[in-house]
Amino acid sequence: MLLAPRILDRELGTVGGDRARWAALEDRLAAFTATLREQPVDESDEDAATRAYVARLAEAGLLTLMVPEAYGGAAPEVSSTAICLTRQWLSRHSGALDTAFVMQGLGSYPVTLAGQDALKRALLPKVARGEAICAFALTEPSAGSDVKAMQTTARPDGDGGVALEGEKCFISNAGVASSYVVFARELPAEGAEQEKPRFGAFWVPGDAPGLSVERTKVIAPHPIGRVRFDGVRVPAAHRLGERGHGLRIALGNLDVFRVSVGAAALGLADRALQVTVDHLQRRVQFGKPLARQQGLQFALADVSTDHVAAQLLVYRAAAARDKGTATPDQAAMAKMFATESAQRAIDRAVQSLGGLGVTVGQVPERLYREIRALRIYEGTTEIQKLVIARALLR
Ligand SMILES: Cc1cc2nc3c(=O)[nH]c(=O)nc-3n(C[C@H](O)[C@H](O)[C@H](O)COP(=O)(O)OP(=O)(O)OC[C@H]3O[C@@H](n4cnc5c(N)ncnc54)[C@H](O)[C@@H]3O)c2cc1C
Repeated sequence: MLLAPRILDRELGTVGGDRARWAALEDRLAAFTATLREQPVDESDEDAATRAYVARLAEAGLLTLMVPEAYGGAAPEVSSTAICLTRQWLSRHSGALDTAFVMQGLGSYPVTLAGQDALKRALLPKVARGEAICAFALTEPSAGSDVKAMQTTARPDGDGGVALEGEKCFISNAGVASSYVVFARELPAEGAEQEKPRFGAFWVPGDAPGLSVERTKVIAPHPIGRVRFDGVRVPAAHRLGERGHGLRIALGNLDVFRVSVGAAALGLADRALQVTVDHLQRRVQFGKPLARQQGLQFALADVSTDHVAAQLLVYRAAAARDKGTATPDQAAMAKMFATESAQRAIDRAVQSLGGLGVTVGQVPERLYREIRALRIYEGTTEIQKLVIARALLR
């Protein structure tokens, strides 16, 4: 049966994988998830669980994957393939663990990309050691898929700094984060003419005066909420990139992380396939295991084929990004196909377990709640379709 990031060895070794490096990472991930099974983290308090997971990930050295070597990272460059492989392993175990891992990268990579060196030196080693917890604040009540509708403003405030005013929503790690990357519409200096809409990116510490948080509850464990900025002062040293380069930085971040949402979905699909096969082989109805019913075998064959196809798309897109040959449609196809097919695999697991599948506390029930948001965040399935079509219609 295929439940296999080892697919990298078999299929993708030829696409540019570095077999020894990935095998060593998988061995570390296997050891790490084994320790989590022996000493699990209590997820009933989302903030405490996030802190505990960040500490455990740091202890295992896995957060070094999120920053470059020059700032305490594992490799010269942050690798999409390494992040994908890690998310596939972690999400099999727990969605909250996967979120704790990925937010360290999603919320710090804009600093890696465009932060000033003093900020990089101050922040990034702490990210790798789990001493800073990160958030990425782009979405707003009136700006979801349409990010250019953003209303949060950055008003010039003397000495090259700005004051941030506005509200973000659906921000992962809101309230638990000590480090926020915030995107805002740049306002002109007093007396100057309004430029066409331009957006900036800024780093803000979690305890900045004027920053406040209101938590939101979603259907799977996930620390998330609204973040308000009431005149939050950002010094020039904490501006990321040049004035007006914010969206470029946000897109640079998505280049690395969007495909990894597909990888997290692979981990959930791995688990779904595993519980489905186990159950069908054990459960006897009509005098024989359900696995001997041809109708159920057909369903398994569909799920398994989708799962292999999803892995090929995800690791193809990740390898292309790491080699510098990626096109936007590759990550879009990978994210869309892996998340949509994982949803089908999980629905199949629920159906295969019958009443047990909808019983609270059973694995399919957890997977059913965890997969849903992956089809929405970092670009919905519909937005991925627009990206894929754009590549065809150029
Ligand atoms: C669990 C979770 C975690 C998140 N974490 C973060 C985070 O850390 N930071 C952050 O900034 N954001 C985060 N988000 C926000 C997420 O990125 C947005 O929810 C997402 O981009 C969609 O925006 P929206 O919810 O406003 O939906 P909308 O943009 O209002 O879309 C609603 C529906 O309309 C569809 N639609 C929109 N435009 C089109 C179109 N042109 N053509 C066809 N269909 C369209 C969408 O696909 C969707 O189905 C998170 C969201 C969730 C659920």
